[in-house]
Amino acid sequence: MINIALIGSTGSIGVQTLDVAARYPDKFRVVSLAAGANTRAFFNQVEKFKPSVATLAAPIPEDFKLSHGETRFFSGEEAYLNAVTDNADIAVVALVGFIGVKAVLKAIEKGKNVALANKESLVAGGALVMKAAAEKGVKIFPIDSEHSAVWQSLGFDTEKPYKKIILTASGGAFRDKPLSELENLTAEEALKHPNWNMGKKITVDCATMVNKGFEVIEAMWLFGAPLEKIEVVIHRESIIHSMVEYDDNAVIAQLGAPSMEIPIQLAISGERLPVKTPPLDFAAIGNLTFGKVDEKRYPCFYLALECAKKGANYPCALNAANEIAVNAFLDGKIKFTDIYTVIYKTVRATEKREITSLALLEAEDCTARKTALKIIGELNDEFIA
Ligand code: MG
Repeated sequence: MINIALIGSTGSIGVQTLDVAARYPDKFRVVSLAAGANTRAFFNQVEKFKPSVATLAAPIPEDFKLSHGETRFFSGEEAYLNAVTDNADIAVVALVGFIGVKAVLKAIEKGKNVALANKESLVAGGALVMKAAAEKGVKIFPIDSEHSAVWQSLGFDTEKPYKKIILTASGGAFRDKPLSELENLTAEEALKHPNWNMGKKITVDCATMVNKGFEVIEAMWLFGAPLEKIEVVIHRESIIHSMVEYDDNAVIAQLGAPSMEIPIQLAISGERLPVKTPPLDFAAIGNLTFGKVDEKRYPCFYLALECAKKGANYPCALNAANEIAVNAFLDGKIKFTDIYTVIYKTVRATEKREITSLALLEAEDCTARKTALKIIGELNDEFIA
């Protein structure tokens, strides 16, 4: 039996993790749940999985607590840290955004292996996270589909020598829009991903392709890869989830229908269990295509690579500015193309500082958020003027 602490239970990955757990009740038990503000879904999950601990950022009514005496409840902004329980074998961290880093560090501190869906924790705090994990002998298993594909293509051996990691990218919702139209595309349009059904933030991150930049940084940390050993190709069909090239130029790839079931199951169990996702029908798929990442269409991707190269606090500033910009875009406060402007100006205003503690990381994140908000204010002033 694998006991799962699920941090971020009501988002896309959280819900799919619970699907997997419910399908194999003899293999998995959900011992804790942590959610944010999606109260109704959280209540249903507590009802169904009867975890020993359940935490919610929003308040939990007393009568609900009383009628679920088998569960200990915590609420408040940092309540999720209580969801890394002693009885867990693995912590699935499926929160969205920077806050994930605290959950990952808490799990490592408690000696729990981590199944990681929160890429922002590695983008912003990769140095801290990987150092802490090495010190505690904790393993980090990727749930991100590209990194799961790399892990599978390495035969689950992250020490295996390879020449190159090749990450694939669909190109997101706006890959076929004329460049001149990008400026005025709406949040609603950005949320229509051609291949994957995911949460809002990551879908916008796919449209700008900052997501693929994040995934390059994530791969650097997970596989100890220098930037030069990672290549990104546009692969519109999202059938090849990523590849590894070896010294003899042989390339091993992982293919499958776009579904997170396989990465989730592998990360929490290491086993190849049957899934709901149908098998590939190659004759029906026809062609697989590959292409370059267009610099004009995806400037956020190249900016992310630049931050990866600079290292230190730059990826943290990139991530913070992106979170602020994407929220502003989703709220209709800035244009799609302003996401790049906000990140670019924030990164340019950032001075290089090494991050050696969580306190320093949080300070860098906070500084970059303030800078990004100020830039958004200035953009809107210009707009009004
Ligand atoms: Mg991914």
